[in-house]
Amino acid sequence: MAETHEYLIALAGNPNCGKTTLFNAVTGARQHVGNYPGITVEKKEGFYLFNGLKLRLVDLPGTYSLTAYSMEELVTRDFLVHERPQLVINIVDASNLERNLYLTVQLLELGIPVMLALNMVDAAAGRGIEVDADELARRLQLPVIPTIARTGKGKQELLKVAAKVASENHQWKPLYISYGADIDPVLDRMEAEINASTFLTDLYSARWVALKYLEADEQVLDKGKKTNPELSNRLEAIADQVADHLQKTLETYPEAIIADHRYGFIAALLKGGVVQKDQKNDRLYLSDQVDQVLTSRFFGPLIMLLIIYAVYKFTFEYSALPVSWFESGFTALGSYMESVLPPGLIRSLVVSGIIGGVGGVFSFIPLIMFMFFAIAFLEDTGYLARVAYMLDRVFRTFGLHGSSVMAYIVSGGIAGGCAVPGVMATRTLRSPRERLATLLTAPFMNCGAKVPVFAMLIAAFFPARHAQMMFLLTILSWMLALLLARLIRWTILRGPSTPFLLELPPYRMPTLKGLFIHTWERTWQYIRKAGTIILALSILFWALMTFPMLPETQKSRFEAERRQVLAQLPDDYRHSIAANQSKEFEFPEEIPTARQRIDAIDRTEAQAALRNSYAGRIGIALEGLSRWCGFEWRTNVALLAGFAAKELIISTLGTAYSMGGANPEEEISLSRRLADDPGWNRLRAFALIVFIMLYAPCLATVTCIVKEAGTVKWGLFSMAFNTAIAFLIAALVYQGGLWLGMGS
Ligand code: GDP
Ligand code: MG
Repeated sequence: MAETHEYLIALAGNPNCGKTTLFNAVTGARQHVGNYPGITVEKKEGFYLFNGLKLRLVDLPGTYSLTAYSMEELVTRDFLVHERPQLVINIVDASNLERNLYLTVQLLELGIPVMLALNMVDAAAGRGIEVDADELARRLQLPVIPTIARTGKGKQELLKVAAKVASENHQWKPLYISYGADIDPVLDRMEAEINASTFLTDLYSARWVALKYLEADEQVLDKGKKTNPELSNRLEAIADQVADHLQKTLETYPEAIIADHRYGFIAALLKGGVVQKDQKNDRLYLSDQVDQVLTSRFFGPLIMLLIIYAVYKFTFEYSALPVSWFESGFTALGSYMESVLPPGLIRSLVVSGIIGGVGGVFSFIPLIMFMFFAIAFLEDTGYLARVAYMLDRVFRTFGLHGSSVMAYIVSGGIAGGCAVPGVMATRTLRSPRERLATLLTAPFMNCGAKVPVFAMLIAAFFPARHAQMMFLLTILSWMLALLLARLIRWTILRGPSTPFLLELPPYRMPTLKGLFIHTWERTWQYIRKAGTIILALSILFWALMTFPMLPETQKSRFEAERRQVLAQLPDDYRHSIAANQSKEFEFPEEIPTARQRIDAIDRTEAQAALRNSYAGRIGIALEGLSRWCGFEWRTNVALLAGFAAKELIISTLGTAYSMGGANPEEEISLSRRLADDPGWNRLRAFALIVFIMLYAPCLATVTCIVKEAGTVKWGLFSMAFNTAIAFLIAALVYQGGLWLGMGS
């Protein structure tokens, strides 16, 4: 009897049901409480000794369901199926029981031994909700122990029962739910086939596998294809048939019917006094009242527009000051390095390659923090769910999801956003297909770095129509993004939309601490990942635009020209220039043009160097193709640089047109320069605007896409796809315009 047995017990539950709090209370660990769905998908382990039994407790990620829609759900499910814990303690939030039991039902359908920790009974009582735990236990035929994880109340009782159940080593026993006349017979048929060939039944029950085929669960479908492709295909065909039939008869899909019946099961379970509600105190009731206004037909969208506008204002306006601190910090660092390092390659690498590239990305940090703060606020209060709810119908038409709207807006849906936080905002989307489609199309919005380029081109070619053009471009980017999303969802991300299981959680006042934790967690991820990858890539881009350098003969020719100018200066000035070497040197009044002439020579040299660099050569090599859109090499190089950061388009165009370096006036002078250039006209400018609107997202965004999508593949895809689309549409604009005779 002295020997200790070890039992594995998993903690499962919806996000924010108090899992981590309970885990910490039991194991004495101090794990971070208040994690955010989508951030932690790892599981934590701890031990607890109870009457000579050793309980190994695992805190699984929070999930609403066990379908393979998200990482959390997959991690949880795989753990249960492969590790086969003796018991799952399913923690449910007593104040939101109906919703929480959705996961319970799925655990029971899986068949794993379950007991319930009816948590947050204090919060429930505060809302006038009373749950009859004994009655619920009787109806579900499992132990149900009321707890308050925060104070540890009920913990001992819970562990006692858990230890007892775990040590009894229960068999897996799947719960049987009826899914109605359309689905039940099909399930039976599939079940028979699955049993006959023991298809995946080593891990799952036959009915469960059949259900997953109806729910089009990607993981199970994949496994099935590998195990028994022939049967798997047959099951898929049956599932398709059902889906088809349901579409025709009820205009719905199997997942929705399945979810309906699960909720029906729960409703029946709770009927007749299991849950007592005192309406007056119920926050849900109050929330309903508030929702009467906030989600009403007329005022709802109006208020939403105001709130979205406020988020936008908050993010971009209040972050402007810290962003400028960051920017001037990096500029100061750059000038400092410029002053201490000798002129040459190393200086250029440090100043333009490293500080310029990484600084550009790090300057976004305050912006991202403000944006995440605003989103965390909307999310924690419960309002974001309402936005998604109101817009779901529109976005669904395009194969997206109501929650996609935030990502679009932040990316520049109101011109001037940034796709980096926009891409990261897609985290609120739970379904991978809709999330990917949003990730891929959000960069089409007009971010704050594209706007100055547009402004420069508009000033040059559409000077009287500034506001109208900007408005037109905003509308155009929304239209194209939505249409392209539709295209993506019809082709590479084909598949049904996820059933809209979005609940409308009761409104609540978020805690400041929670907001800061959420904000910081997301910001830190950006700094860590984007920082390292961007550093490498900005060095690469610097090299492309620097090497090969001009041959010595050419360099010395420019040098000779400069000397010639200097030679015309009076002797004493010449000597002090030679001694001082400073560019800042004051030229004598008598020869006001000397400085300008030297600058002009510098610019011509920079232009020649750019043309000669790999980037310049790539630009020239691409002319054959880019001619279709009306671009020549200078534009191509600028676009190439714009891939590193869209801010670089203007400065590179400036160099390519030998307009000089960091001149604050350069936008204006460049726009005049282009307007006067015979090679440019309105049509070209418009084709270029369209191209810039759509082509490959900048490096920072691609890095974020890679991180959010989880594979490099989607980052590469977004570069290739967006550039191809941009080329196609810009070429269409340009060629169409030529054909209509607008090319002059
Ligand atoms: P998890 O997402 O399931 O890990 O949930 P957490 O353990 O992070 O808890 C979410 C929030 O609920 C935290 O703010 C906890 O302090 C709070 N919480 C947890 N258990 C209880 C409880 O029994 N009563 C009340 N009132 N709050 C609780
Ligand atoms: Mg947790």
